[in-house]
Amino acid sequence: MTEEQFTIHQAGINNHCPNCFAAKSLTFSFFQNQKENSWYIKTQAKVTDQLFCAQCQETIYPSAWDDGIERVFLYHQKLLMPNKAGYQLKKKALWAILIVTLVSIATGVWGWLTYGPQ
Ligand SMILES: [Zn+2]
Repeated sequence: MTEEQFTIHQAGINNHCPNCFAAKSLTFSFFQNQKENSWYIKTQAKVTDQLFCAQCQETIYPSAWDDGIERVFLYHQKLLMPNKAGYQLKKKALWAILIVTLVSIATGVWGWLTYGPQ
């Protein structure tokens, strides 16, 4: 099973970096996780976020955010449109379900024809 993180929303913000005080170097990114094996893809509901400064090449953690950054964060959080959490079956799984269904129906019909009312 592989786990992958993909970006669902990314936005550059105009606030100053609390670390290096550079302007226009901060980017908010929001991620969602997906687990995948050969049968299905599972999208998780949890959204994680990161604030990264391109100037000092560091992640700015929420403890260092000022009120301005906090407000911009809440704004971008509202804009988020996360992917629906849940399972998505792959072709292989759909085929397996189809085959199992057909085999059960065939077995049922065979049983009815063999042991059913004569
Ligand atoms: Zn910085």
